[in-house]
Amino acid sequence: MKGYAVLAPGEHGWLEREKPAAGPMDAVVRPIAVAPCSSDTHTMHMGSTTGSPVILGHEAVAEVVEVGALVRGFRPGDIVVVPCVTPDWEAPALQQRGANNAHDYASMASFKYLTQKDGVFAEFFHVNNADANLVLLPKDVSVDAALMTVDMMSTGFYGAEMADIQLGDTVVVFGIGPVGLMAVAGARLRGAGRIIGIGTRPNCAELAREYGATDIVSYKDGDVVQQILELEGGKVDRAILAGGDASTLNQALSVVKSNGVVSNVTFLDPTDTYHIPAPLWGLGMSDISICGGFCPGGAYRIQKMLRLIQNGRVAPEKMLNYQYDGFDKIPEAFVAMDQKPRDLIKPVVHIQW
Ligand code: ZN
Repeated sequence: MKGYAVLAPGEHGWLEREKPAAGPMDAVVRPIAVAPCSSDTHTMHMGSTTGSPVILGHEAVAEVVEVGALVRGFRPGDIVVVPCVTPDWEAPALQQRGANNAHDYASMASFKYLTQKDGVFAEFFHVNNADANLVLLPKDVSVDAALMTVDMMSTGFYGAEMADIQLGDTVVVFGIGPVGLMAVAGARLRGAGRIIGIGTRPNCAELAREYGATDIVSYKDGDVVQQILELEGGKVDRAILAGGDASTLNQALSVVKSNGVVSNVTFLDPTDTYHIPAPLWGLGMSDISICGGFCPGGAYRIQKMLRLIQNGRVAPEKMLNYQYDGFDKIPEAFVAMDQKPRDLIKPVVHIQW
């Protein structure tokens, strides 16, 4: 079978692979829609963590082709939503936490595509623990909307959940790319009174307003911290980091009140370093919680995201403004994601077999 892969750091192209096989609890599926993501382009630039070529892609809606002998909930022909994070649910680390947690003992260990095995830009791909990780596509949810639950919605909403937003809070969302847009939508659903989105792209700003942003602040109009403080007439309750680098944390700490929360869902460059001047964190006495976390995965999480779509709470498919048709268009969509033309929010490739 064919897959679109990172071949070496900075090099990408088609690759021939053996078709994967399903273990007793697993499934093999073929994608019917995939969305390239900045995690794919980062992996392409840095090279795979295994050091060998790895098929890219981790966001997919797919058709089941094969299931293992112990899989009860799915059979070939089913259309399924595949979380980008697929925990091994029998792992002791998950049992200890007793919750739907994305992490194994190591940070991001339940994120298997790209890092531990081939991804979804392939004619076929493998899904571990099919019963606990896959969700049947509901009849009243479009493929595009479902595709946006597996990473963008789960990640962006996690930013709002970690921020522990209270009714009426003022929330600042740094970055209004697709994850930030979903953080805005999540903040509104959690009852934020005011949502200030930080970004410059006009179509992202427009969509941010549609998802619930009450104000947009642009880096281009001057110091972001000053603008936020002036707009709010003081500090805000919560901040969500969905873009920027380690220094963006300092901007967030400059605008969040004591007892507030700063939550991070943006992936940092491994060479980046946090430098936090002590006064920014109230000399260690501010009671500002700083938390960061990775996209929660698994079937239960994705069912919750789908329920929000089914009941009209959010329409994440509006982010998919670059549409491609056909498996052979994956490279084009991937390059668009890498080069990020100014009007790109999120690309999608629809595939018919
Ligand atoms: Zn992604």
